[in-house]
Amino acid sequence: MNKNFYVILAGGVGAAKLIEGLANVVDPELLKIIINTGDDIELFGLKICPDLDIITYTLANLVDKEKGWGFKNETFNCLSILKRYYNTGWFNAGDCDLATHIYRTDLFKQGFSKDEITTRICQNLGVKSHLIPMCNEDVQTFITTPSGTMHFEEYFIKHQCKPEVLKIHFEGIENSIPVENVLKYIENAKKIIICPSNPIVSIGTILQVNGIKKALSKVKDKTYSVSPIIEGATIKGPADKLMKCIGLEVSCIGVAKFYQDFLGHFIIDNKDCILKPKIEELGIKTYCFDTLMVNLRKKIELAKFIMEL
Ligand code: GDP
Repeated sequence: MNKNFYVILAGGVGAAKLIEGLANVVDPELLKIIINTGDDIELFGLKICPDLDIITYTLANLVDKEKGWGFKNETFNCLSILKRYYNTGWFNAGDCDLATHIYRTDLFKQGFSKDEITTRICQNLGVKSHLIPMCNEDVQTFITTPSGTMHFEEYFIKHQCKPEVLKIHFEGIENSIPVENVLKYIENAKKIIICPSNPIVSIGTILQVNGIKKALSKVKDKTYSVSPIIEGATIKGPADKLMKCIGLEVSCIGVAKFYQDFLGHFIIDNKDCILKPKIEELGIKTYCFDTLMVNLRKKIELAKFIMEL
């Protein structure tokens, strides 16, 4: 196997920022990106893969950069009628986005796997990197709150991550297997980069796919991650609530402890540099950098820093 490639583990919006930087620093064809599919959902009869789509649209230079998801210059005409038919208003998908969901659903009906469909979508949208769903099997994340259990997307969008989280459950994860060659890619990659994504429901889901965590722990020396937690808080999303729910401290130390079995190198924010010795005690080489990717320059600087380590 040609060893001149990088493996990336990714969720959605947080991951897309670093991946945009990486694609500006190395040839995008060298990136093999394993993406969380635990928040995939079926709505309006359509198969929707939020994280796969965010990374695809980002690398196709079609993403709405303000929102971090969906297409730029999007219209929402179809959705306005769908909402009337289905009498539900919480999920947002623009007209172009719905085209992806229709195409994906059609290919599923024809018998293609999630992996094959992802490759086709990428080819058609001009994405040069290799995007790989974490598995082809259905895995769905459910969140239990005091008022009941709901799909992660419903918790995330409809309830805006407000309810307390009592339990997180990945339905179907026990039957998940990595897509063909993924374990070989992990073994042979030059570096493995774990994006600053939600450690529990983005990276954590990928880690629970049978064999992935074990494969990573064998190549600890070449695994790198950026903390999604800065000064004890998330930039956006429910990582803090979910970390608390499983008994983790909400800090870069909490993330480091969660990744301890397989993480060799950890990039924490300059603002957290005081915590560096505590993370190094866990046997993880730790570096401080400005990790808040507020524009393309910041994304590229962080990507360069990781590539040069
Ligand atoms: P989502 O599920 O689509 O929101 O995206 P991800 O799972 O990829 O990432 C969410 C996580 O990314 C959150 O915990 C954020 O704190 C983190 N994040 C987002 N933007 C940045 C950034 O610019 N720098 C760092 N260090 N973390 C970020």
